[in-house]
Amino acid sequence: MAESNGKTEIKFQLPEIKFTKLFINGEFVDSVSGKTFETRDPRNGEVIAEVAEGDKEDVDLAVKAAREAFDHGPWPRMSGYQRGRIMMKLADLIEQHLEELAAIDSMDAGKLFHIGKIIDIPGAAHTLRYYAGAADKIHGETLKMSREFQGYTLREPAGVVGHIIPWNFPTTMFFAKVAPALAAGCTMVVKPAEQTPLSALYYAHLANLAGIPEGVLNVVSGFGPTAGAALTSHMDVDKVSFTGSPEVGRLVMQAAATSNLKQVSLELGGKSPLIIFDDADVDKAAELALVGILFNKGEVCVASSRVFVQGGIYDAVVEKLVEMAKNWPVGDPFDPSVQQGPQVDKVQFDRILSYIEHGKREGATLLTGGNPLGDKGYYIQPTIFADVMDNMMIAKDEIFGPVLSLMKFKTIEEGIARANATRYGLAAGIVTKSLDIANTVARSVKAGTVWINCYFAFDNDAAFGGYKMSGFGKDNGMEALYKYTQVKTVVTPIYNSPW
Ligand code: ADP
Repeated sequence: MAESNGKTEIKFQLPEIKFTKLFINGEFVDSVSGKTFETRDPRNGEVIAEVAEGDKEDVDLAVKAAREAFDHGPWPRMSGYQRGRIMMKLADLIEQHLEELAAIDSMDAGKLFHIGKIIDIPGAAHTLRYYAGAADKIHGETLKMSREFQGYTLREPAGVVGHIIPWNFPTTMFFAKVAPALAAGCTMVVKPAEQTPLSALYYAHLANLAGIPEGVLNVVSGFGPTAGAALTSHMDVDKVSFTGSPEVGRLVMQAAATSNLKQVSLELGGKSPLIIFDDADVDKAAELALVGILFNKGEVCVASSRVFVQGGIYDAVVEKLVEMAKNWPVGDPFDPSVQQGPQVDKVQFDRILSYIEHGKREGATLLTGGNPLGDKGYYIQPTIFADVMDNMMIAKDEIFGPVLSLMKFKTIEEGIARANATRYGLAAGIVTKSLDIANTVARSVKAGTVWINCYFAFDNDAAFGGYKMSGFGKDNGMEALYKYTQVKTVVTPIYNSPW
């Protein structure tokens, strides 16, 4: 590890936390119960702020406001162009507060400040503009019916949407869900993760400043089994868009099924394979594998947590990987030379360390890392296991931390079969110079996104979502916009048609 890893805390003028209350019907309000909860800085475990703790009563109020705004308010009724203009304004406001917002996510989630400033926060503005530009291009179709009828479809907004957001990308996930829903003309209640509520509340303030009408965007901070569950089982919510764990994904579907059969979309994580073939460039392959697992300290649903390396290149890739991992700078997320900050909280920190212990006990070979770093905060060394068997726990479960499992394979068929031997199917990577191998593997791998000779190549226009137990329904792209619409078919008789 680099010298100061996990030990020095950078002196940075942290922003004042201004927004800690629930945002309902255009106003910041205390929770009905008056309760609050602490959100903590993972660099040191200290409390950053007390945040209003929403529960069922608060969700009821927020849904009531969203319902009123949907049924009678201007948002779904104004032109797509007008909605788009307001969304563009929100994008501008985000850029004007870029540093402060990046700092808030760094404090709350341990995310790298220098990355937040160039990826997460500008990306949110970009996402808003992408969907703002699409808001006046939401078309139905003219149907080719029999001669006696003419028909067309209307794409109408889905209604009141509940968004349940995870803690690993508090800004990116907020806008991946909120921006297309706004463009479609929906109204919504957002439940940010309890670990990272601060930026979502700030975005509510900016949305208000931008002119998004009251009741359209409500934010209820609080816990999953209370506020989250109230949203998923609410009779007046038309759709829930969830990103989180498969366990909670099941609960979300159950709640939807036993309440009003609301539509559900689920993004539930993964155990994504990166498959490196013999003809790959060693340095490039090792870099993709390492960044694939260590970006955002491994707290990424598409992390390349299973790296399959073909026999002919295996030793060279492993040597390079281990050398890079040993020099990977871990430390304070406000330090611009650091590439890996602290894990989000103590629960996650302990969970990752317990997986590392499992890996050792199961007989995998620990090549580097495996321990916490520093004497305070939730830092973990970049950790690489070799000789990992497909049935080991570290090869099967999503660890959500800086822990890489290395596997050796011989043939293309074996690589494909083992890459697919998982209950997940979110993403996959392929490293090869052969077009034939790339094409064959891309079509054979069961994953919602396949990256060839790259990794984490996200784009607003690239639909993102899982196969198998990684869930269903897409974020990003026009697919995500359509997810927040419903199709109505309109038919009239037609007489004397020449065609
Ligand atoms: P993780 O294990 O990564 O923390 P979770 O699935 O527990 O992921 O959490 C993701 C989001 O789901 C968070 O906003 C959390 O509060 C919410 N959540 C947790 N439990 C429930 C639940 N029973 N119903 C609805 N939302 C929930």
